[in-house]
Amino acid sequence: MNVLVANLGSTSFKFKVLDMDKNGEQIARGGYERIGQPGAEYATHGDVIDVILRELPKPPDAIGFKAVHGGPISGAVKVDDHVIDTMQQFADIAPAHNPPYIAAMKAFAQKLPSVPQVACFETAFHQTIPMSRQVYGVPWEWTEKLGIRRYGFHGASHRFIATRVKEIAPEARKVISCHLGGSSSITAIQDGRSIATSMGLTPQTGLLQNNRTGDFDTFALLKLLKQGMTAGDVLSKLGKEGGLLGISGVSNDMRDIDKAAAAGNERAKLAIDAFVEGIRHYVGAYMVALGGCDALVFTAGIGENQPALRQAVCRGLEFAGIKLDETKNNTRGTEARISTDDSKSQVWIIPTNEELIVARQTKEVLES
Ligand code: AMP
Repeated sequence: MNVLVANLGSTSFKFKVLDMDKNGEQIARGGYERIGQPGAEYATHGDVIDVILRELPKPPDAIGFKAVHGGPISGAVKVDDHVIDTMQQFADIAPAHNPPYIAAMKAFAQKLPSVPQVACFETAFHQTIPMSRQVYGVPWEWTEKLGIRRYGFHGASHRFIATRVKEIAPEARKVISCHLGGSSSITAIQDGRSIATSMGLTPQTGLLQNNRTGDFDTFALLKLLKQGMTAGDVLSKLGKEGGLLGISGVSNDMRDIDKAAAAGNERAKLAIDAFVEGIRHYVGAYMVALGGCDALVFTAGIGENQPALRQAVCRGLEFAGIKLDETKNNTRGTEARISTDDSKSQVWIIPTNEELIVARQTKEVLES
């Protein structure tokens, strides 16, 4: 079974086609950026789908979506009108993700009506988080009737890390998975199951994100609204001009921020320091939640490629059993154990493979 895995953003479309009869061997991959932007080659996600289908040697047998927010619908499910309607209801809290997925699901259905589609929600891996870490301190009816609670995201990536750690370090039962990329989250994994995660109702919370706020004091909203901004302005700024971009004023890309910091830009340095502080905050909290840490894992664009950042995160953690090997820590982009041989906790770089998880789940759903 060839599964086309679609990974979408508001202006991007990344895909891989994996042969699930050959252990997920990659048959094709591609990516399109700036969709619908001024001067862009493609106006809609549907245009991109036309190009992909023209270029593939044969249509896929199934399509798996790394879907983001289905509210009460989680796990991996066949896409139908009910799934699409529910994603629409939650589009207001996943505005960068749910609309392009809905558009792509409709476009694929029109272009390949007989090819089944499966949505693998990013919230699924976190369904095992206990209620005490899901609830917010809000009026109970918001929790119950509006579904305002912590869901958690990056589920495919954290699930991949949990699965891979079992293969390469089976003795590690308490794992802290740091997915640090364009968007970032940290998950505490006990015996392969998520027990705590840093993102919440929306993927905007937790760590600083590339241009989204991260953890924030809700009561600041009052002050912002009093300045004459509308709720829409405030939300748009929090979602597009916040995070690493907001603090640094340089870029939403860590590579640019790093360069600026090296050239002496104080706000760029501050953005990196604040990002590191956020990571250390959650790592500490999750050591307590797990009662220790057998393996600390770095993944995604920043986690896999930035030795200095990993070193800053691990600095002074010898008391907690974490000792980084400075030479091994210079590894970039490949799987490696980067702790010293006598470190009580193992520290790893594990490149994530979210598409493989989505393709596996898609196959399971269609064969069940
Ligand atoms: P992702 O969302 O996993 O694609 O990660 C994107 C982030 O990773 C951006 O902030 C990039 O700056 C960062 N990143 C990607 N590749 C590298 C690299 N080779 N070196 C440093 N940072 C990188």
